[in-house]
Amino acid sequence: MTTILENVQAVRARIASAAQAARRDPAGVTLLAVSKTHAVDRIEQAHAAGQNAFGENYVQDALPKISALPHLEWHLIGAVQSNKTRVAAENFDWVQTVDREKIARRLSDQRPADRPPLNVLIQVNISGEASKSGVVPAEAAALAEAVVALPRMRLRGLMAVPRPESDTAAQFSEMQALYERLKAQFGFDTLSMGMSDELEAAIAHGATMVRIGTAIFGRRKTESPA
Ligand SMILES: *Cc1c(COP(=O)(O)O)cnc(C)c1O
Repeated sequence: MTTILENVQAVRARIASAAQAARRDPAGVTLLAVSKTHAVDRIEQAHAAGQNAFGENYVQDALPKISALPHLEWHLIGAVQSNKTRVAAENFDWVQTVDREKIARRLSDQRPADRPPLNVLIQVNISGEASKSGVVPAEAAALAEAVVALPRMRLRGLMAVPRPESDTAAQFSEMQALYERLKAQFGFDTLSMGMSDELEAAIAHGATMVRIGTAIFGRRKTESPA
């Protein structure tokens, strides 16, 4: 079995070669380590390997980890329920899954005054499945307009989770086009897409942040209930 240190190094090497293949600067791709279901000691091992940014799907699961390791950068990458916006606004540095104005407004209202504005990504439903979270691509600009107007948020860009069984490259390509179209208008600097199995394709299509769980921490035994 490989160690978390070795895994982080291997993922960094994959990012570097994917960036090189795409004629991009590897420094332009941030690694987000997805630590859902994994305990604090394993997150500390990744941190010892130089990793600072971590992603969690469920607010309640993340809270004890954030309290134990408050100096790390914490990203919420799972859906935000309305009754969890306060805890999310108080504890996370980034929320990547904003897909409704109502949620954005609550997060802004509830962001504590002693913390910097909340970094926000708009989640786009690129898969075309009605059941999936995210705004449809045609509505992303309107939601971005609403979010940039909120005082306690810093809108950084877009996030997507493609449908794995279909052509992910085509979905990444569509996201890249949307990101490029909105980037200048809204001052975007972040396109979050690409997981363990597809980080190369995501980087080829302009991802500036990849979200990697399995390739760093190994397979997850269980997914926590929502
Ligand atoms: C779990 C998860 C990831 C990480 O997926 P891996 O395949 O384990 O790398 C990335 N993004 C989101 C939104 C996730 O829920």
